[in-house]
Amino acid sequence: MTKPNKTSPRNHFTSDITIVGGGLVGMAAALALSKIGLKIHLIEHIAIKDDSHPSYDDRTLVVNRASIRFWENIGIWKDLSSDLTPIKKVHVSNKGHFGTVNFKASDYNLDALANIIEAKKLGMALQNKIQQTDNITVVCPAQVTGFDTITNAIKIDYCHDNTNHSIISQLMLAADGAQSQIRKKLGLETHIKSYQRTAIICNITPENKHDFCAYERLTHLGPTAILPFVNNRCGFVWTVNENKAEAIIQLNDQDFLKKAQQQFGYRLGKFIKVGKRSSYPLYLVTVPKQVKSRTILIGNAAHSMSPVSAQGLNLAIRDVANLIDIIDSANVNKQDIGSSKVLKDYQNAVNYDQNQTLKYTDDLMSWFKINNPIINSFRSMGLVALDNVSHLKFDLFTKASGFRDKTTKLLRLQ
Ligand SMILES: Cc1cc2nc3c(=O)[nH]c(=O)nc-3n(C[C@H](O)[C@H](O)[C@H](O)COP(=O)(O)OP(=O)(O)OC[C@H]3O[C@@H](n4cnc5c(N)ncnc54)[C@H](O)[C@@H]3O)c2cc1C
Repeated sequence: MTKPNKTSPRNHFTSDITIVGGGLVGMAAALALSKIGLKIHLIEHIAIKDDSHPSYDDRTLVVNRASIRFWENIGIWKDLSSDLTPIKKVHVSNKGHFGTVNFKASDYNLDALANIIEAKKLGMALQNKIQQTDNITVVCPAQVTGFDTITNAIKIDYCHDNTNHSIISQLMLAADGAQSQIRKKLGLETHIKSYQRTAIICNITPENKHDFCAYERLTHLGPTAILPFVNNRCGFVWTVNENKAEAIIQLNDQDFLKKAQQQFGYRLGKFIKVGKRSSYPLYLVTVPKQVKSRTILIGNAAHSMSPVSAQGLNLAIRDVANLIDIIDSANVNKQDIGSSKVLKDYQNAVNYDQNQTLKYTDDLMSWFKINNPIINSFRSMGLVALDNVSHLKFDLFTKASGFRDKTTKLLRLQ
């Protein structure tokens, strides 16, 4: 965000909604809200440097079918078409034991079960679109330092160009990440569960063609995934014990490839090349109440989970889609969009999906921790059963695709 499309006037000014945090979720919310005609201010702390930003680095993101609809409906998806890799098949196995589950796009008459995009590409596309949108004002680099509710509004204080400013809005969206200072200042109850595991993430090139297949291997340390990517590269997500992570990352390329190969096996032939390694400690952050005082937490500020389930951004996008329906309806009916009723309606609308998705991710991380031969054979039998019962498989696929009972407007075909 080195070139904000409009600069902020000094001192007090107003917008319908101020979004704090211009990561993927803050930007997605800004664009979606601009489509319903609201005036948005987006305040982001860190400016883009050399086309890169820590909130959208080179991690590979699995974008499920519901999120694809959202990106299509806010006009971003076609800008990304040359950077997408389709997932045509998914193969799930229990490492060292029998039993697999296989999903194929062709079984559901689809071209792809999901798509893969580099976070950096998505972030830059959102940036460009925001720059062309009249009713979004970006203030960056700028840091929100405080806020207070006043009569029928919220006053948000921030520092930009070494000068203190404030803005008055009806509603504030806190998209300020997993360590959200806004959440802390609001005193919202937060639960943090550490898995004592670390995800090592890198690109690996295998000898054989990946054939657009994603692999998920369930091990007693947690899942390991291989995701198809451009130029036959694969995104490799490897869950290890937190106290072993640093030593594994520091291995030279040959030794790292050898260990990764032992972990994954030879289904894609020999691993021949590895890229830069990054690591992410794995934990689960849950916030039972995400609304207070004209403020709604969204994205990682509201829930943060292990990347092994590839659900963090996908869930946040469904939350944003719900938010748009609720705010649009309040706005059309000339109601206060920051009222406690709107906040309550939002919390009620997202509770079920969030609880289910967070539970699924937590189960994936915890269930396979128990390494016991009897339990292992039950798991293997479970995988075999799931693979053979088509309605159970379809139900799982539908949920992983992000479609639940209620479909919000931005997740519908338009
Ligand atoms: C390795 C990895 C792989 C992943 N893979 C997937 C996947 O396949 N599918 C999926 O759905 N999800 C995936 N995720 C999760 C996804 O990346 C996150 O859910 C998403 O990026 C969270 O975005 P966010 O905008 O909520 O938070 P952040 O990216 O943390 O952004 C918060 C922003 O707020 C700004 N900020 C903070 N405080 C202030 C302040 N006071 N004033 C102004 N600005 C402030 C920060 O500078 C930052 O830019 C993955 C995550 C990781 C780590």
